[in-house]
Amino acid sequence: MSFREMRRFRQQLPHQECEALLRQGSSGVLAVSGDGGWPYAVPLSYAYEDGKLLFHCATSGHKLDALRRDGRASFCVISQDRVIPEKYTTAYRSVIAFGTVRILEEEQELRAAAEELGRKYYPAGTAEELEREISGALSHMLVLEMTVEHMTGKEGKELMLERNK
Ligand SMILES: Cc1cc2nc3c(=O)[nH]c(=O)nc-3n(C[C@H](O)[C@H](O)[C@H](O)COP(=O)(O)OP(=O)(O)OC[C@H]3O[C@@H](n4cnc5c(N)ncnc54)[C@H](O)[C@@H]3O)c2cc1C
Repeated sequence: MSFREMRRFRQQLPHQECEALLRQGSSGVLAVSGDGGWPYAVPLSYAYEDGKLLFHCATSGHKLDALRRDGRASFCVISQDRVIPEKYTTAYRSVIAFGTVRILEEEQELRAAAEELGRKYYPAGTAEELEREISGALSHMLVLEMTVEHMTGKEGKELMLERNK
């Protein structure tokens, strides 16, 4: 299957900007095919590097059951959404990534991924602090690794006009 093109292609962000936006963001919404085929969109913290999104989660739950059934998912991050009242609109920028999620359960790769997440959220933390946090969490957490297969970014017309001034 090929992913569809953006209709309003002039509002599309270059790939590098999508990546920068993902690196800067602190949360997004992961959409999976949930219980009974109902779409399930769940907010999560994440880290992004080299075409991979990482999420940490508990060892059970709705999203995990969904991903065990079908690893395909999409993840959306909104990086900006400023209301412009007099124009009845907002100045927005967002990225949507599609990909397949793998559940990391093996200790070595789980630890490496947890370190990446930890460094993103507490870059000033010491190696000892990170190690303490991860050792305490490892027995009751998993990491989800989404390999991005398709990614688009879009900005609202207002931001596009500002950029092209
Ligand atoms: C900004 C943000 C960042 C977060 N970061 C993380 C993270 O990094 N890792 C993590 O594990 N969790 C995070 N959470 C919590 C996350 O959204 C889920 O609540 C959690 O992961 C449990 O998901 P589950 O599918 O296992 O929940 P379950 O308890 O199995 O879900 C059962 C039902 O509870 C409801 N539900 C679950 N979560 C939510 C929710 N957030 N809001 C409203 N209803 C809900 C839904 O109806 C769902 O079908 C974050 C939440 C927010 C808002």
